[in-house]
Amino acid sequence: VPKAKQTSERDTDSVELHRPLSKSRFKIAQECPTKLFYNGKPTIYGNKNDADAFLAALADGGFQVGKLAQLEFAGGTEITSKDYPTSLAETDVLLSKKDAIIYEAAIRFENLFIRADILKKTDDTIFLYEVKAKSYSEKEDSFYDRTQLKKGLKKITTKWAPYLYDIAFQHYVVSKAFPNFKVVPFLVLIDKSKVATVDGLNQFFILDKDKRGHTIASVRPGVDHTKLGESLLAKVNATEAVHAIQNNQDNGKNPPERLHNMSFTQWVDFLAKNYQEDTKISPVLSPSCKGCEFRIKPGDFPSNIKSGFDECWREAANATENDVARPRVFDLWNFRGADKLMEQGSYYLDNVTEDDVTNRPDKKPGMSMGQRQWKQVELLVERSAVPHVEKEELRLEMERWKFPYHFIDFETTTVAIPFHKGMRPYETIAFQFSHHVMYEDGRVEHKGEYFNAEQGKFPNFDFVRALKKELEGDDGTVFRYADHENTVLNQIIRQLTVAGGQVADGEQLIAWIKTITHGPKSEDGDDYLWTGKRNMVDLLNVIKRYYLHPKMGGSNSLKVVLPVILNASAFLQEKYSKPQMSRNFKEPITWVKKDEEGFVIDPYKALPAVFQDYDQALIDRVFPEDEINNGGAALVAYARMQFTEMSLAERGLLRSALLKYCELDTLAMVMVVEYFQSLP
Ligand code: SF4
Repeated sequence: VPKAKQTSERDTDSVELHRPLSKSRFKIAQECPTKLFYNGKPTIYGNKNDADAFLAALADGGFQVGKLAQLEFAGGTEITSKDYPTSLAETDVLLSKKDAIIYEAAIRFENLFIRADILKKTDDTIFLYEVKAKSYSEKEDSFYDRTQLKKGLKKITTKWAPYLYDIAFQHYVVSKAFPNFKVVPFLVLIDKSKVATVDGLNQFFILDKDKRGHTIASVRPGVDHTKLGESLLAKVNATEAVHAIQNNQDNGKNPPERLHNMSFTQWVDFLAKNYQEDTKISPVLSPSCKGCEFRIKPGDFPSNIKSGFDECWREAANATENDVARPRVFDLWNFRGADKLMEQGSYYLDNVTEDDVTNRPDKKPGMSMGQRQWKQVELLVERSAVPHVEKEELRLEMERWKFPYHFIDFETTTVAIPFHKGMRPYETIAFQFSHHVMYEDGRVEHKGEYFNAEQGKFPNFDFVRALKKELEGDDGTVFRYADHENTVLNQIIRQLTVAGGQVADGEQLIAWIKTITHGPKSEDGDDYLWTGKRNMVDLLNVIKRYYLHPKMGGSNSLKVVLPVILNASAFLQEKYSKPQMSRNFKEPITWVKKDEEGFVIDPYKALPAVFQDYDQALIDRVFPEDEINNGGAALVAYARMQFTEMSLAERGLLRSALLKYCELDTLAMVMVVEYFQSLP
């Protein structure tokens, strides 16, 4: 049996670990190596990802998949200690046995340190399993770009690169620590082609906090591997991709080491050394800076906390204090050319020229994408404070709408592990909607709402029944904001189809859904498979085609649009500065209030925090909402109601907060239409 104690070629394992390069730090460095310097310094640099671990685990859902995988690799031992020496020593004891299964195994090589999700040791082989809450289909997924592969090039896809680089790093550390062993890397993923063969699987795992506030994922008493039914996990051998990465054969844009002209080993050494010595790796600005977690807004953190983003821009683009608020090229809406411009040293939106965008109309009414982009640049350069409105086209669009208007908004999530037998992983769960109506005489009513977060209950069919009841009384126009509601209803059609005769009114529900939606595109053309006679109007699209306010920047998110139009509209200010009764508030609520400088305060800020035990600013920071992804906090709240132990009172408070938020979501849509109606 080969030597099983952890070793090191340079025999440094007796040296105390100091700022080791861990797998999470390696992952951060893969996104941008400069981040290593800012990371883990909460008293110096603000980090939007510094979330509460408990909420982050709920949002990610990975804890369930992790526990499911541990149950499937039954009979292992978990290394629970957090400190380096104890966890390494405990792992060594287990590895000294002939066979071992270890969860959270601690492995080091020099100043590299990993905790392997699952490690299985046999005589001469170590199987390394990285568990990810990520769906996988053998038929549809490929680690390599298929077009490049046909040309003989190995290009790891953007989708899989973070996971494959992660396991490549772990494989490197384990192979170095155990040079006499063969190390075989696997990704353990959720197989989306499988269906659950037992009921209630997703209630087997719960999340809790221990006395010290640490997040603890656990399996409910009485649950073991015999209760799981057929496996939902795909154990995918990643040996080939890992070798391609370690031998610098990945031809994609993924590996930062390519930018630095280094081999994989040199790259790991370079990162480890810089991290250990706490030296900053010089920033290379790119469109990825847009979403950098160290890009913090004034007011999000205490004033003594610095912005790593601003520091990078000072260093790499000679940015001055005056440039801090200057919009960047990547703030241009939906712009694909930011990469090229930034490589040429054009970093700011006012550097964009008409040649950089396609400022031409398309065949549809209103602004094309290129026209809208150029308008955004023009409004900025002109320092305009007034919006651009395609008035005539907007008027024609509005003439097509029919009263009473219905405004709907859904809160949904996906759960990795199915609720019931026969269901697939990552099904969409629709647990909440709100519905406002606007009548021809201008009256606005919060007509109805739905909420169901009962533990273990799949709410979708009740949800759609309730929605049908709300909308089927007339044939007025139904408004959504973005594609989400259409997508979710299409998914419910699929779920109803799979359920077949088990849902007695399934066919009626499907027929009704088709009246207010459009289907997916047909395979052989641009046409939708169906277009309902009352197909919903996408208010986001109305804004994109006909309206642009300079204060919206590059965002069309309703959370951005609402305060902008409230500040722009005397009509809305007048109407909503009067207290109004509302379904979810005991007292009349005044939606428009002004701050000391006379600006309308964002109505969302007037709502109570979603979680009583968390600061709402933290929730907004950690789960930001954009035009595609809304309801970030709502889905975490749903996960909390499903997968943690909560008292009835706590559940009631959460429910009440979510109802208020969703109500404002549809009221905000009403306000957009009222604003358009009031335009001269
Ligand atoms: S601002 Fe850009 S260069 Fe700086 S840390 Fe963030 S992503 Fe990296």
